[in-house]
Amino acid sequence: MEPTASLSILALLMLGLTQAVPLMEPQHVDITTRILSTNNGSRELLLEGDIVLPRTRNALVCANNNCFWKKSSTGLVQVPFTVSADFSSTDRAVIAGAMATFHSKTCIRFVDRSTEIDYLSIENRDGCYSSLGRTGGKQVVSLSTRGCVYHGIVQHELNHALGFYHEHTRSDRDRYVTINWQNIDPTMQYNFNKENTNNLNTPYDYSSVMHYGKTAFTINGLNTITPIPDASVQIGQRVDLSVIDIQRINTLYNC
Ligand SMILES: [Zn+2]
Repeated sequence: MEPTASLSILALLMLGLTQAVPLMEPQHVDITTRILSTNNGSRELLLEGDIVLPRTRNALVCANNNCFWKKSSTGLVQVPFTVSADFSSTDRAVIAGAMATFHSKTCIRFVDRSTEIDYLSIENRDGCYSSLGRTGGKQVVSLSTRGCVYHGIVQHELNHALGFYHEHTRSDRDRYVTINWQNIDPTMQYNFNKENTNNLNTPYDYSSVMHYGKTAFTINGLNTITPIPDASVQIGQRVDLSVIDIQRINTLYNC
């Protein structure tokens, strides 16, 4: 791990405890604000705010596509999962609703785990976070009941588990957004590093559910991410998978 990353993680650990959030919240609270405020004080080592640090490899570009879920002979990609008993029936309905979009628009099928070795364990831990891609064995998708159980946020974390990074870290992002480094908490700047991503011949997508909001990790309230050339373009939605998010899943998994 890079020294700067260790420092940032320390800083993250030193932040206060998660605060409870109201059940009903205006949709204008962007995805970053929601996820990062919930993750304050998380004990996990998180990259880009909500990705459990990859320890061995870059997820989206990986040898032999080993970091992705396997397609079965039916042409569907089954992703086994379990849901912790902590979740209420209302929470479960939100999670199921988030998965239903993947089921109706892609070949991904989140299925109840029986004996599969590789699976997602959806747990109520201290934040909203996921690993990138299939890690092998049990992998936790944390959806804290104190702020993560929303349709778009569940989809965001599940999409990390399918292998997708944040949109603003795309290899070609400098043509579409300006990163305002001076407005970013120096200990958090690593969250804006570009990744070696496979962009799947899809356009940069401001409307992606994987795009962070304009003030992610701001230290002074000013924007950390500015769309170019039109700074007024909306980013950071947490409503639903975008058309391009769906297209990407279908391309990556050859649906
Ligand atoms: Zn994320």
